[in-house]
Amino acid sequence: MKAVVDQDECSGCELCIETCPEVFEMQNDTAVTKVDVVPPEAEETCRQAAEECPVEAITIEE
Ligand code: SF4
Repeated sequence: MKAVVDQDECSGCELCIETCPEVFEMQNDTAVTKVDVVPPEAEETCRQAAEECPVEAITIEE
């Protein structure tokens, strides 16, 4: 499973970093993914982060 952040949509609220720090980190003012493949133990919180993103900037690729 992979996660992608749309850099044009991300508002930099940092919610995804709080929810799933294993996958997301801040780079300048937007969130980016710091892993190529989401670790299995972080898949649940990664999906949660995608669902809760206020601007729906996170896409999950299975
Ligand atoms: S939750 Fe969405 S808007 Fe907020 S930092 Fe993460 S990707 Fe950006």
